[in-house]
Amino acid sequence: MALARGYAATDASKPLAPFTFERREPNADDVAISIQYCGVCHSDIHTVRNEWKNAVYPIVPGHEIVGVVTAVGSDVTKFKVGDKVGVGCFVDSCVGCASRDLDNEQYMPGLVQTYNSVEADGKTATQGGYSDHIVVKEGYVLSIPDNLPLDATAPLLCAGITLYSPLRHWNAGPGKKVAILGMGGLGHMGVKIAHAMGADVTVLSHSLSKKEDGLKLGADHYYATSDAETFTKLAGTFDLIICTVGVAIDWNAYLGLLKVDGSMVIVGAPEDAIPVHAFSLIPGRRSLSGSMIGSIKETQQMLDFCGKHDIVSEIETIGIQEINEAYERVLKSDVRYRFVIDMASLAA
Ligand SMILES: [Zn+2]
Repeated sequence: MALARGYAATDASKPLAPFTFERREPNADDVAISIQYCGVCHSDIHTVRNEWKNAVYPIVPGHEIVGVVTAVGSDVTKFKVGDKVGVGCFVDSCVGCASRDLDNEQYMPGLVQTYNSVEADGKTATQGGYSDHIVVKEGYVLSIPDNLPLDATAPLLCAGITLYSPLRHWNAGPGKKVAILGMGGLGHMGVKIAHAMGADVTVLSHSLSKKEDGLKLGADHYYATSDAETFTKLAGTFDLIICTVGVAIDWNAYLGLLKVDGSMVIVGAPEDAIPVHAFSLIPGRRSLSGSMIGSIKETQQMLDFCGKHDIVSEIETIGIQEINEAYERVLKSDVRYRFVIDMASLAA
């Protein structure tokens, strides 16, 4: 066992605080990683505040992890000491399961999440990336393309794949009109990736306050959803709308913006049930779907795609000591566009 230092939540109502815990020594199929940066995802906040009613404390959050390999087990072939690597939202899945589907691994029942989950041994709690190091099975470690800066790459591990996977699945590309609903941590990644895929990209945001950023990051069009005219002007326009906002919206109004056979895909989870009229879907054979991160295979494809197109996140770097303040700012959408923790600050 090796002692790890990090920040943890010990209770839904307490701020994150310094925390020491044990990580296993690498097994034959493990990679040990010195964590350099970790992104701050809205799920971290939902989890540590027990808003999804599944928190098991203490919790070291963080699933947008990047760092450098410090040791590998004897069976590891894909990585060596010194490699730049990433770890995303899960660190194991139902490896022994007959129906294991590597293309849809994230939807398998045996998924072990990077934190607030239990390892395959059935007892050890997983702890995430707000910490100095992590030990992960080789099959759940991602290679980071050499040209990408590590700090701004961290958010690709959750925000990036969350948008890349549905954009690929619903064939975003040349000739396709794609709308990204919400211009935040998830949405701004969607704009960059959809643009690089060759789609015609529209941002639908509450106001026009981030319009300049949106156009700079690759959007072709930018509309305010607070303006009722947007919905008349854009009726029947889109092949695909990706909804990144985790709040209640007028779902029927947005479904009306889809073309025949268009799909609206939910990646940001609103708290309440979604009221949808059948007649928002029937005329136009429209679909309302959901999508969750991506498989390890697809996450690596996403990283390689981002490497090829020089895509990283727009970030604000913080020290771990600023994490509680950062959470408050995330809740107020006061960040352009993702916080990334510099883990060197743990030593400060
Ligand atoms: Zn996340």
